[in-house]
Amino acid sequence: MTDRNGRRLDDSTRAGQGTAIFGRRYRVGSILGFELAIDSSWIFIALLITWSLAVGYFPSEYGNLDPALYWVMGVAGAAGLFGSIILHELSHSLVGRRYGVEIRGITLFIFGGVAQMGDEPPTPQAELRMAIAGPIASVVIGASLLGLGRLTAGLAVPVTAVLSFLGYLNFVLAGFNLLPAYPLDGGRVLRAILWRSRNDLRSATRTSSQVGAAFGFVMIMLGVLAVFAGDLVGGMWWALIGMFLRGAARGSYQQVVVKELLKREPVRRFMRTDPRTVSTDTTLDALVNDYFYRDYHKMYPVVDGGRLAGCVTIDRVRAVPREAWGARTVGDVAVPCTEQNSLQADSDAIAALSLMRRTGISRLVVLDGDRLAGVLTLKDLLQFLTAKIELEGA
Ligand SMILES: [Zn+2]
Repeated sequence: MTDRNGRRLDDSTRAGQGTAIFGRRYRVGSILGFELAIDSSWIFIALLITWSLAVGYFPSEYGNLDPALYWVMGVAGAAGLFGSIILHELSHSLVGRRYGVEIRGITLFIFGGVAQMGDEPPTPQAELRMAIAGPIASVVIGASLLGLGRLTAGLAVPVTAVLSFLGYLNFVLAGFNLLPAYPLDGGRVLRAILWRSRNDLRSATRTSSQVGAAFGFVMIMLGVLAVFAGDLVGGMWWALIGMFLRGAARGSYQQVVVKELLKREPVRRFMRTDPRTVSTDTTLDALVNDYFYRDYHKMYPVVDGGRLAGCVTIDRVRAVPREAWGARTVGDVAVPCTEQNSLQADSDAIAALSLMRRTGISRLVVLDGDRLAGVLTLKDLLQFLTAKIELEGA
């Protein structure tokens, strides 16, 4: 599955907005320059797949094998699914990279994979090619695996069994993703076509996400019907996928709206100038009582003789034992202003938002060169967005 806008879904859980579909991500390595991560939900799903293959599918399709062998086949099947999803997402990412779309990484989560895309594709044609690349890869992989399964037939039943299972699974992967339900691949194809004919990304996204949400609703209904028909587990899966799809459709549309509204707006416009600063020689005791407990901010710019020296966060203070707060100073625990906690006043508001999402820091130091220009908070950005949506509509 490919909400390549997954970046928003992923990051929003930390900055406290949007749908919190993703849990914790574990980085496991990188492939062709793309960072590969596993969402905690995938660990659960991998165990579930291994188990259902080992005790359900393989024994019923291929009887009379050693029970231990079924578990080996189950693990191989789950690993193969893992690899198939990575290759599917990798093809989206490779085409995206060719069009200059920033790909932050690939995350495997409960319903498949997500290539995390930094921007929308530049043109409808780029969107179309990026979207179609994944299903094409899955069809090619599926056909190759089925071919291999044919070749090994009669040689070793377990190998043939796993190869054919994965072959069909890749066709299912391609077919499911080709549903015209945005943000699935098929929905992106639909969006690309609408975008091209209307020449309006926002309107194209609105229509295709409505179609996506409608598909989600149909899946939930099918799931409910299946539960009433006695298929509890299958029905719950349908309903869960439907709910995911509705959330993702709505979220992806919101993301496009936010990007349109913040496009070309400099950080300078939203920052609070003249923020309260704290001097390096202030004790941590004073910092806690006169700053953190007084105006409840979690970060203050630190100055040393009028010059910006970094910033101090509540986390840094928490790391120091309470008994030492009287003796230690802000200078001891301040961190320098880096790209991870500060940005230039002229940078894009979208860059600020994605920095907040990526780091989970909702209050950033704004610089003008190396001078302190102000402080930017997520709250101020969101208030601007709310006002703009109320005035201009979404
Ligand atoms: Zn895909």
